[in-house]
Formats: sequence, structure tokens, C-alpha cells
Amino acid sequence: GRSFRPEGTTVTFKNGVVVGGNQVTIMAGPCSVESREQILLSAKQVAAAGCQFLRGGAFKPRSSPYSFQGMGLEGLKLLREVADETGLLVITEVMEISQIELMLPYIDCFQVGARNMQNFNLLRELGHVRMPVLMKRGIAATIEEVLLSAEYILSGGNYDLMVCERGIRTFETYTRNTYDVSAIPVLKKLTHLPVFGDPSHGVGKREFVPAMALASVAAGADGLLMEMHPNPDKAMSDGAQSLFPEQLEKLVAQLRQLAPIV
Ligand code: PEP
Ligand code: MN
Repeated sequence: GRSFRPEGTTVTFKNGVVVGGNQVTIMAGPCSVESREQILLSAKQVAAAGCQFLRGGAFKPRSSPYSFQGMGLEGLKLLREVADETGLLVITEVMEISQIELMLPYIDCFQVGARNMQNFNLLRELGHVRMPVLMKRGIAATIEEVLLSAEYILSGGNYDLMVCERGIRTFETYTRNTYDVSAIPVLKKLTHLPVFGDPSHGVGKREFVPAMALASVAAGADGLLMEMHPNPDKAMSDGAQSLFPEQLEKLVAQLRQLAPIV
């Protein structure tokens, strides 16, 4: 609960990056790591736009088993290499307990995907590592369920935790999910943890991502997780919701009008 730390939790990373407090942190990059060339170019564009973290999935939770499943360990190595070259931190998704040890040397933050928000065994294990975690809201999870899942990680002793709204499933189909901006101020009231928004998965269409990113920060988000691809039309996953590099750069400039980005 908020009363545990009324001033709010901050999570400290290397490079002097602090998440939480009075600034906004931006994590951006492609949905998936696809090749050295693609992730290196992405990292350069993400850094040039003024973001702090490079995102990119190496282990991908795809709806179809026949879709691209990610580059695995090779993807992790590429993430680390290009992030170091560009001065960024790495966030990438962990899908199962057996990947945790393998991932630790290459990353700065674990991402728990929406589909795993109630994988309680995975959450418990993440409570025992000394590595920050960003946990996304489940596809049909209530805010109370988000908080209880967060508790699985916190109760193991890992307090370097962030929670993230990413859209929930409703009757609406025009957007991929229904991005629940209201979850941001509600979570800020209920928990001391930094609260992020992922408008990319929230709406699923790039044209609406900037508006929802701005709305998230106006609503009090401590950070954003967004998809950007050097060539979205060629993306192996989530191209339709991936910003063009120049869109990301423009959006970060607009976000700076609302809050300090560090
Ligand atoms: C992702 O970040 O690419 C992803 C799979 O997100 P989510 O778990 O929110 O669907
Ligand atoms: Mn994605």
C-alpha cells in the first residue's frame, strides 16, 4: 500500500538512471529483436530520441505457435551489446522460471508480460532475484489483482518493482485493447510503486499512441514503455503499433512539456 512509503518507491539503475520520483522514464524499442542490424539501428534511434531504456523481446509470447517466437539467447546478447554501445539500459520479457538465470547477465530489468501477470510461480522466483522487474497488467486483470500479483514479488524481498498499464480486453475492437488511463492515477493512489503506461499495446495502432502517451504522463505516470521500429512495415511483430523513429523523437519533445524526462 501507499502508506508503506508515502513518498513513493524509486528504483535505481546504472548510468545514474532513477525510476520514480519526479521524473518520467521512457523505455522504447521494437516489439522483438530481429537481427543485429535492426536492433543496433533501433538503439541508436531510441537514444537519439532521448529515451533511457531499450526494449525488445528475445522470448516472445505469441498468440500463434507458428508466429516468430523470438531470437532467444542470441537476442539477449544483441540487446546487451547495442545498449552498451548507445548508453541505454535493457528491458526484456521473461516468460518462464528457467530463463531467469540465463537472462541475468544481459539485462537491466525483467519485463513480466500481460499473459504472465498471474503466473504465480514465476512471480515468486522474481521476488528472489536482485534485478528490477516491470510487471504488466494482465489482459483481464482488475487493479486489485495487479496489486496482489505485485505482492508476490515484493513479499520475496524484491522491492525494485514497477507496474504497467497496457490495456485490458473489453467489447471494443477498434483498438487492440482498451487502454485504461484511469488505472494510472488509481494505482498511484493505491501503491508506492512506480506506475508505467504502455500505450502501444494499449491501442494497437500507431496513430493513437502519442495521444495516449501524453495522457498517461498527464495522469501521473512515472514512465512509458513504447514500441518503435526503424521500419515498422517490415516488423516481425506488432508493426502496426510501432512508432516511426521520427514520431518517437517528436513525442518525447512533447512529453518534455509535461514532465522532466531523465
Ligand atoms: C510486449 O511488450 O511486446 C508484449 C508482449 O506485451 P504484453 O505482455 O503487454 O502483451
Ligand atoms: Mn509487442
